[in-house]
Amino acid sequence: MDFDISKEQKMIQKEMSNFCKKELNKDYVRWMDENVDFPPDELWKKLTDVGIFRAAVPEEYGGDGLSCFDQMIAYEEICKASMSVALAVGTTFSFGPRFITDLGTKEQKEKYLPLIGDGKLKTCMALTEPAGGTDILGAISTSAEEKQDRWVINGEKVFITAAHVSDYMITICKTEKDAKPSKSLSVLLVPSNSKGITITRIPKISCHHCDSVGITFSNVEIPHENILGTKGNGWYEMLDVLNPERIGCAMMGVGLIAAAYDDAFEYAKTRHAFGGPISRFQILQHYLADMYINLENSRNLTYKAAWLFDQGKPYHLESTMAKLVSSNGALHAGRFGAEILGGYGICSEYAMQRYLRDAYQLQFSPISNEMSKNMMMQFQGYPKSWA
Ligand SMILES: Cc1cc2nc3c(=O)[nH]c(=O)nc-3n(C[C@H](O)[C@H](O)[C@H](O)COP(=O)(O)OP(=O)(O)OC[C@H]3O[C@@H](n4cnc5c(N)ncnc54)[C@H](O)[C@@H]3O)c2cc1C
Repeated sequence: MDFDISKEQKMIQKEMSNFCKKELNKDYVRWMDENVDFPPDELWKKLTDVGIFRAAVPEEYGGDGLSCFDQMIAYEEICKASMSVALAVGTTFSFGPRFITDLGTKEQKEKYLPLIGDGKLKTCMALTEPAGGTDILGAISTSAEEKQDRWVINGEKVFITAAHVSDYMITICKTEKDAKPSKSLSVLLVPSNSKGITITRIPKISCHHCDSVGITFSNVEIPHENILGTKGNGWYEMLDVLNPERIGCAMMGVGLIAAAYDDAFEYAKTRHAFGGPISRFQILQHYLADMYINLENSRNLTYKAAWLFDQGKPYHLESTMAKLVSSNGALHAGRFGAEILGGYGICSEYAMQRYLRDAYQLQFSPISNEMSKNMMMQFQGYPKSWA
């Protein structure tokens, strides 16, 4: 077993680390967090130039076709600098190439993938509905009816990250009225400028510079060829495509723990109380030790899940554990990092309050930690505890 990474992988790490130090420094990230609901175009252009959107696009469509492991090496640095930017990038770099590569026709791949790689096409994935995200099959009611050469979409989605800036919404709709829920869905590629789409802002405490919004579809008409995959088989196809999402979300937690650890570690060395640095107090060292253990555990699990995915081996148990361990580690890191900074831990001047706020989002998105544990036991052969 080899835990080392290759020379090429070290180069990816270094390039992204340098990029993030320059383009995602703390002052700029704070400015974004206080002023914008999505990374500005100029940053998007720089992210494009550094190659992030080419990473998951196959080489034959102009991308770099990196392995999941290599993608995660690049992504870790962004996750550490800003979870909002990581989330914003993830909705395009992960959802777009994966849905279109796995489910698209040759024409769809030729049309969309090069644009994604060139940073000219943003995507989002619209699954969750107001009636609930965990029991999504029970909750989904957004419908798409076939009318001549078009689909007509009606319904409502909620918490859709980056929908307010996307060019295309990968939207999961009910297309089979009389089929059982798991055989009733299809994946549609909805142009965001279609008539009848309304976006509603959802103010939230986490990830301020990457909004997640509500979408209303009112008699939205899209061309019939905008289906991805097979009509009525969307549930199974979508799960195959979406499951690796947990690896990327786990990496967000890894980045967040790393950032909170670094900040708290440095702060404790320079802040003085009772005649010396607070870093000498054992209890604060223990907070940091726990953060470090969580960092190591979640990073190892996340890269292991990515490696398993690349080998074509079962990875669901590991990716689900990675998401769980890293999201809990992130919340712990924000909470105890803030403790180490004392009153400054909740002040806007310091990034710690952002880590704490952002960490909450990972508890239940893209899947809640309660449901993650349900699934872990199902993967190990126990009967489904929630059906
Ligand atoms: C900021 C943010 C961004 C998001 N981005 C997207 C996106 O881009 N696209 C998208 O489609 N969705 C997105 N989501 C939706 C996300 O996937 C859902 O929030 C998530 O699936 C949970 O659904 P819910 O919020 O409706 O909670 P609910 O499903 O209502 O769950 C409420 C509580 O009940 C618990 N619960 C439910 N069922 C069980 C069970 N069987 N056993 C134990 N506990 C259970 C849950 O764990 C949770 O604690 C996002 C959500 C947020 C908050």
